Amino acid sequence: MSPCHDTLRLAEQLIAKPSVTPDDAGCMDLITQALQPLGFVCEFMDSGTAPFRVRNLWAKRAGTSGQTLAFAGHTDVVPTGPLTQWHSDPFTPTHKDGKLFGRGASDMKTSLAAMVVAVKEFLALHPNPALGIAFLLTSDEEGPAIDGTVVVCEQLKARGAVPQFCIVGEPTSVQQTGDMIKNGRRGTLSGKLTVQGVQGHIAYPHLADNPIHRLAPALADLVAMRWDEGNAFFPPTSWQVSNIHAGTGASNVIPGECVVDFNFRFCTESTPESLQQRLVAVLEKHGLTFDLKWTLGGLPFLTTPGTLVAAVQKAIADETGLQTELSTTGGTSDGRFIAQICPQVIECGPPNATIHKVNEHVALSDIAPLKAIYRRTLEQLNSAVAA
Ligand SMILES: [Zn+2]
Repeated sequence: MSPCHDTLRLAEQLIAKPSVTPDDAGCMDLITQALQPLGFVCEFMDSGTAPFRVRNLWAKRAGTSGQTLAFAGHTDVVPTGPLTQWHSDPFTPTHKDGKLFGRGASDMKTSLAAMVVAVKEFLALHPNPALGIAFLLTSDEEGPAIDGTVVVCEQLKARGAVPQFCIVGEPTSVQQTGDMIKNGRRGTLSGKLTVQGVQGHIAYPHLADNPIHRLAPALADLVAMRWDEGNAFFPPTSWQVSNIHAGTGASNVIPGECVVDFNFRFCTESTPESLQQRLVAVLEKHGLTFDLKWTLGGLPFLTTPGTLVAAVQKAIADETGLQTELSTTGGTSDGRFIAQICPQVIECGPPNATIHKVNEHVALSDIAPLKAIYRRTLEQLNSAVAA
C-alpha cells in the first residue's frame, strides 16, 4: 500500500467518526493505536464535566537531543448544518470529482492522518532520532476551548516539559497545500459597552437624556481611531462594532440606555491593557456615563522566522516548488495557547476554502503533499537539532 493510501485511509477512518465538539468519538483511540507501536507514551488529560467532557491527548516520544517537535490539532468538528444540502453523508467519507468529502476532511482530520503517517515514515528511516516528537490533541478546539489545549499546555508548563517547536495542522493553504502557512495570529478582545441616559417622553427631551445622542460623537472618534500601525507581520489593529441596540419598542420614548458590542482584532503592537485604556479615555472625554465588560478571547502570537519557519519553508519548496507565504490572517486558533509555552509555533495544513461549510472536502491531490511536507519538516528539524 502506498504511503498516500495510508494517509487517505486514516483520514477516512477519522471522518467516519462523528466527533462533533466536544465528542472525540474514538478518534484519539485510533491515533494512539497508531502511535503506541512507534514508541509513543500516550497520556490522556481529559477535562471538564459531562455533558462537556473534553478528551485531550499528549503523546510523546523522546529524542536524543532533548528538543521536541509537537504536532498539534483537534479531533472535533463543527456541526454538519442541513443534511439535505450535503451531496453525501458528512460522516461517510466519499470520493467525488477527485475530492474527499466529509465533515473534518479539511478541518482537520486529513492533517491528523498526514501527521501520523509522516511520523511513521520518518521513524522507519530514523529509528533513534535526535528530535523528540509529540502529539497534542484535543476534542475542544471548535467549542469554548476552555478544557482543551490550554489544559494540556498548563500541565506541560507545570512539569517543565514543554516542546521547542510546534506545528498546528489547521487548514492554512489557499489554492494548493503549502502555498500559505501561518506564523502568528491576531489577538481578540471583546467588549460590551452600556451607555447610561435618562428615559423619557420623546416630546419632552429636556426631561430626558438620550444615550444614543451622547454615544454618537464618541463612536465617531472610536471608528476613526488609529490603534497602531501594525508591523512587518501584522496589519494594524482593527476595532469593529458588531451590534448597537437601544429603544423600548415604543416610538415615543427616549431610551434609558444604549448597548454596544464591539471587538478588537489586535496585533503584537498593542496590548489588551493599552487598548482598554485608550477606549475608556475616549468615552470619558465625551463625558459618558457607562458600564463596560471585557472578554479577552486570546492574546496574539508571532513566530519570527527562525529554525521552524526555515524548516517548513524548505520542506514546502522541496516538495511542491512553492515559495510559501507567511501570514497572520484569519481568526484565532489553539496556537494562541501553545505559543505561551512554546517559542516557535507554525500552522500548516491543506486549503481552507470549504471549512465549516456543507460539502466540506479536500482534494485527493493535496493529501500526499501534505504528508510529505510534514515528513520533510521532521527531516529538516532532526538535522537542525542534531547539528
Ligand atoms: Zn480547525
